[in-house]
Amino acid sequence: MPKADKLFSTPERFGAHLRSLRAERRVGKKQAVRRSLTPRQRQTVLAKTGRRCHICGGKIKGKRWSADHVFAHCQGGPHLVDNYLPAHDLCNSYRWFYGSEEFQWIMKLGVWMRTQIDRERPHAMDLANQFIKYERRRAARNST
Ligand SMILES: [Zn+2]
Repeated sequence: MPKADKLFSTPERFGAHLRSLRAERRVGKKQAVRRSLTPRQRQTVLAKTGRRCHICGGKIKGKRWSADHVFAHCQGGPHLVDNYLPAHDLCNSYRWFYGSEEFQWIMKLGVWMRTQIDRERPHAMDLANQFIKYERRRAARNST
């Protein structure tokens, strides 16, 4: 199991490691063949967590959610209702876009960054400002 616990001496080395994880992901990416679940199977999957997203823990409202293949099919995961958990579309797409170690680094970076913003550290406020602008541009693109 990959673990995001390596220590780095410089930000450049950390960046290089993240780039190497991205390169590995691009090489190893396989198109998972997904058969769709029946409405009854989807209800069974949704009931497993009491209509909560298994990634963030938030309540799932409405019909737009993903049945997340917990153990990836390309790694030998069975295609059964047992192998699915419900997730928000947003959580599911963020999660599956990245490899396990990459996702752990992203979580650690996010938690650290959140703390820095909470403490109003100047470098973090600058990045938070850029992030807000980025999100606004993204929202504007997606609404057209
Ligand atoms: Zn979620």
